[in-house]
Amino acid sequence: MKLHEYQSKRLFAAHGVPIPDGDVAATPAEARRIAEKLGGRVVVKSQVLVGGRGKAGGIKLAQTPDEAQKLAEEILGLEIKGLPVRKVLLDEAADIQQEIYLGIVIDRAARRPVMMASSEGGVEIEEVARTNPDAIKRIAIDPFLGLRGYQTIELFKGIGLADEHRRAFDRIARGLYETFVACDASLAEINPLIVTTEGDLLAVDGKMVLDDNGLFRHPDLAAKRDLDEETETEREAREAGLSYVQLDGEIGCMVNGAGLAMATMDITKHFGGAPANFLDIGGGAKSERVATALRLILADPNVKAVLFNVFGGITRCDEVAKGIITAFEEVKPDVPLIARLVGTNEEEGRAVLAESGYELITATTLADAAQKAVAAARGELEV
Ligand code: GDP
Ligand code: MN
Repeated sequence: MKLHEYQSKRLFAAHGVPIPDGDVAATPAEARRIAEKLGGRVVVKSQVLVGGRGKAGGIKLAQTPDEAQKLAEEILGLEIKGLPVRKVLLDEAADIQQEIYLGIVIDRAARRPVMMASSEGGVEIEEVARTNPDAIKRIAIDPFLGLRGYQTIELFKGIGLADEHRRAFDRIARGLYETFVACDASLAEINPLIVTTEGDLLAVDGKMVLDDNGLFRHPDLAAKRDLDEETETEREAREAGLSYVQLDGEIGCMVNGAGLAMATMDITKHFGGAPANFLDIGGGAKSERVATALRLILADPNVKAVLFNVFGGITRCDEVAKGIITAFEEVKPDVPLIARLVGTNEEEGRAVLAESGYELITATTLADAAQKAVAAARGELEV
């Protein structure tokens, strides 16, 4: 789950990271009041869950409250990379002397959080990694020891910040790490962390991605979820307890188990098809959940065939089969359906499907199922 800039910055600030004074507004009038209260120049910043807002015209500098109101009105009407701008952040404008990058991500290879710093701030870090990889300094953090002073000094020296900023940099790096750990984040980023003309360090942008698996420990953070982050289908899936990711292929995949779902997508690709989604209905899936899953898959207009790949362990094939039939009655699918049910109660499951009167293409091996699904999606397979 992603957090907005203003939410991320407030969390950083609660852990001692200096941020500009500011507040969020949903209307131009509110924006004006905030600008009046701040006094002086303000930046008006669209709050959408994508990067590169600056380039997209979603960040503007206002000299007066009048101008702040006018800019807020413009920005609130924008759509940035497909996302509507519903809120703007008004921050006291800072005079920038230098922009640096500071971020933490989980590095799977290092099996640790890795803190990265770069003198090339203000541009996307992926871009720096491509064009000037040596400008990014990294340190891996031992989760039991935490971030050590010598490590922040190493980063600080690595990016060539002037010596007078050493303490401030150390405090910000520690604050960022504390926020990262406290929130069960998978990413926490300040880009740019600026040096102002007065010589202070200030986090003017903030980004956080929280680990969804840790959200149960943070109901306060979970409540901050922006529904625009997800498609309608993804939201419905999450509420039903399904792991669903929409993709752009034509073969709907309904699978139990994340690993099997990945394997199903891989083999679909291998035989020349493209999966329309990742979907894990989970272990012990009951018929209502299966029905919801199928409804979600069929709601995607790109879907030309649906592949059911169920391995019955805890999940019983007959339960899944009943769910499939329930869903058929509800949704009336008009695309070919390929079913591979193996494991616990597979005979009972196949009997449920056979007796239903619905036309299903059956398969026994995964390869057979995938090939049939690819052919069916191309209209090359008769039921
Ligand atoms: P992003 O484009 O979505 O990453 O949004 P940022 O918040 O990083 O803003 C983009 C750029 O706008 C920054 O890199 C800065 O150069 C500039 N910017 C942001 N806040 C201020 C500010 O307070 N004063 C000035 N002068 N520039 C700012
Ligand atoms: Mn930024």
